[in-house]
Amino acid sequence: MTSCPDYKNLIDRYLDLDDPAQKAALDAHLATCASCAEYKADADKTMRLLRALKGRLTVAAPIDRAFEQLQTRLAASRRQMVWALSLVALLTVR
Ligand SMILES: [Zn+2]
Repeated sequence: MTSCPDYKNLIDRYLDLDDPAQKAALDAHLATCASCAEYKADADKTMRLLRALKGRLTVAAPIDRAFEQLQTRLAASRRQMVWALSLVALLTVR
C-alpha cells in the first residue's frame, strides 16, 4: 500500500478504518500529498452535506426534495455527486 490510488481507496473507507497503523500511514501521506489531501477534503465536505441532508429528512420534506437541494449544492463536483448517490442509497435502505 504505497501509491496514491491505494490511499484514495482508504480515504473512501476512512470512517470505517479500524486499523490504527493503516490510519496513521494514511494521515502521514495526507500531510505530504496535495492530491490525496484534496481528495480527502472533498470527501469530508460530502460527509458534511450528507449529515445536513439526513437532518432534513422528515415527513414534510421527503427524500427526493431533500436530495434536490443537495444536488444543487453539489453541482460543482461530479465526484461528490457519485459519493452522495451511493451514501444516500445506504441511508435510505436503513
Ligand atoms: Zn497521494
